[in-house]
Amino acid sequence: MEPTPWRCPNGHTMGMVVRRENIKQLAVFRHALRPDLPEQRGDILLYLVGPADNITCSICFERRSWIIGGGAMERWLARETGGGHGNH
Ligand SMILES: [Zn+2]
Repeated sequence: MEPTPWRCPNGHTMGMVVRRENIKQLAVFRHALRPDLPEQRGDILLYLVGPADNITCSICFERRSWIIGGGAMERWLARETGGGHGNH
């Protein structure tokens, strides 16, 4: 899988979606990258494996949540085991 840029709502690259050890992870950049400076390289702060809420863009302070691809499996499980509307 090619690394995929992970951008804030204003198009700043906050990280890259990568696959390491067959797990989809988000490499979070220390500083978001501006689209008008394509020669910038991301300085990776950390790798997120699990979901994370409200990661803040260092340029515009917009927030975005990282949801792992496993969410698809959770939805699938919910559909398999929910069997209805979940009411008591
Ligand atoms: Zn931004």
